[in-house]
Amino acid sequence: MMYGLLATGTLALSGAPGCAIQKKHVPDYDQDTPFILTHVNVVDVISGQVTPDAHVIIDSIGKIISMGQGPVELSPGHRVIDMKGRYLTPGLIDAHCHSTVSPVFAMRMADLVKHARQQKMNYVNTINSGVTTIRDMGAFTGMLRWFMRDIEKGRLPGPRVVYCNSILNVKGSHPEIPPSDVNFFARPASVFMGMMMSNFKGPDQLAYYLEENARGASFIKLTLDNKTIFCKKDPTLPVYSTKELDTIFGYAEKKGLPVVGHHHYVFGFDRAMEYPFHSIEHVVSDQYLSDAQVQRMADRKVAIVPTLTIAQSYLMEEAFDGIPAELKSDWVDDELKVRRHYFDMEAGNHCEPSLHAQNLAMLDNYKRYKQSSLFEHKKFLVNPELYFGMVNKGFANLKKMKDAGVLIGCGIDAGMPLNYFGGLYREFEIFQRLGFTSLEILQCATINNAKILKMDDSIGSLDPGKWADMVAFDDNPLRDVQVLRNPAMVFKQGQLMYSSRDLSGESAFSS
Ligand SMILES: [Zn+2]
Repeated sequence: MMYGLLATGTLALSGAPGCAIQKKHVPDYDQDTPFILTHVNVVDVISGQVTPDAHVIIDSIGKIISMGQGPVELSPGHRVIDMKGRYLTPGLIDAHCHSTVSPVFAMRMADLVKHARQQKMNYVNTINSGVTTIRDMGAFTGMLRWFMRDIEKGRLPGPRVVYCNSILNVKGSHPEIPPSDVNFFARPASVFMGMMMSNFKGPDQLAYYLEENARGASFIKLTLDNKTIFCKKDPTLPVYSTKELDTIFGYAEKKGLPVVGHHHYVFGFDRAMEYPFHSIEHVVSDQYLSDAQVQRMADRKVAIVPTLTIAQSYLMEEAFDGIPAELKSDWVDDELKVRRHYFDMEAGNHCEPSLHAQNLAMLDNYKRYKQSSLFEHKKFLVNPELYFGMVNKGFANLKKMKDAGVLIGCGIDAGMPLNYFGGLYREFEIFQRLGFTSLEILQCATINNAKILKMDDSIGSLDPGKWADMVAFDDNPLRDVQVLRNPAMVFKQGQLMYSSRDLSGESAFSS
C-alpha cells in the first residue's frame, strides 16, 4: 500500500514525465543569437523617465549591452525585433511566494493529477504575467529542485528562483499544521518532495537544519509570532529563545546570508527590531504602530514585503451573517468588492477552477463549526478578525512606513490558499488604492524587490551589464498601473518566454 502510494505521488508530482509545457506563442527559433529591440519606449524605473523610440541591444548570453536613440549600427549576426512602439520595463519580481505548493486548504487523493499540474502552472502563470524572478519563501525542497531543473532545461517555462529551502522554525510554531493533516501523502512523500518546514528542537537539530537549509540558499527564513493565525482554542505559539536567535544570526553572519522574518503581530515586529533582520514579511495587523516603532524600523533599514493581498483574500465575510460594525471601514468595503470580483471572474485563470471551487466551499465551515473548534476538526481556516485587522491596521501601518522611507517590496504569498500565481497585479492595485503612484508601484515590483533579493546589481532596472529581463506592454504602465495586468512579451535573461500574440510567421522569429 505504502509503495503504491509513493509511486502514485511521485508520478503525479513529477507531472507526466516527458510532457514538456510549451512557451505560449513563442515559435521555435534560435534564441542564442544576439538581438536588438527597436522602436521601443524604455521605462526607467528609477527616474520615471521614458525614452521614446529607443533601441536596446542584447548579447548572446542574455545581458543588456547598450541602449539609446537614433540610428544604430547592426552587426550582421543580430536579430532585429521591431517592438512597434510598445513600452519596456524591467522584468517584474515577486518577493514572497511558495512556488512548490498547490494553493489549497486541503488535498484530496482524487485530485492528485490536478495538483501536479497546478504546481507546474504556478511557474507558467508567473512567467506569463511578466514576473521573471521569484523569491520562494519556503518550499518542498526536493520538488523545488525538480522544478528548477525543468525550468533550466527548457521543459517548464518559469522564472529565475531565489530560495531559502525550508522555513526554520521552533517545533510547534507557525504554520503549526502537521503537513500530513492537509495532504494525505505528505509524510511518505517527504522522502522525495523534501520538507517545507524544518522544525527544530534543541541546539543540535538547529545546527543541523541551519546547514541543511543553507545549501544553494540566498537567505534564511524565520517566523516570529507568539500567536497563531488560525481559528483555534489556544492561540499561543512557542518562540525562539534568545540563545537560538543568537545562534541563527551568528551562522547567518558567517555565511553572509540575510535573515528574513514572518510576522502578523506586534510581538513579532518588536522582536524583529532587536536583531539585524534584512526584511520582514506581511504587516502588523493587531495594532497601529507608533511613530517611534516605524522610525526605528526605518533607522535600522529593515525592508518590508507586506503581502497585503492576503488581507484581501482572507477578508472572510463567509464567517459572519453580516460583518460586525467594529470590523468595517471604507478600506474593508473596497477590498471586499475587489475580492468578490477576483474570486468570481479572475481566479479561474490562475488556479484550476475545481480546486478554486473547493477552496471557496471550505469557507462554509466557518458557520458549520464553532470557530474555536475549527482547528481540532482539521479545518485550517484563518482567524477572520486578524485579516480584517490587516486591512484596517495593517494598511495604515504600511502607509506610515512609506512616509518614513522604509524600503517596500511586493509579493502576494502565492501558494497559500486563495492567493494564486499570476495575480501579483492584485498587490499593485491595492497599493494604488492606498495612494502609491504608478511609478512607486513599479519600483516596488522591480528595483525595490531587486534590493530585497540583494540582486540589484544584476536585475531590477534596464541598464547595460544587467540581465535582459524585460517585459513589453502595449500601453504606458506609468499612466495606468492596470496596464501591468497584460504583458505583450516577456523576456528572461534574453530569452523570449511568452507572447500575448502568435509570433509564428513574423520574420524576426524564424530560424
Ligand atoms: Zn509566506
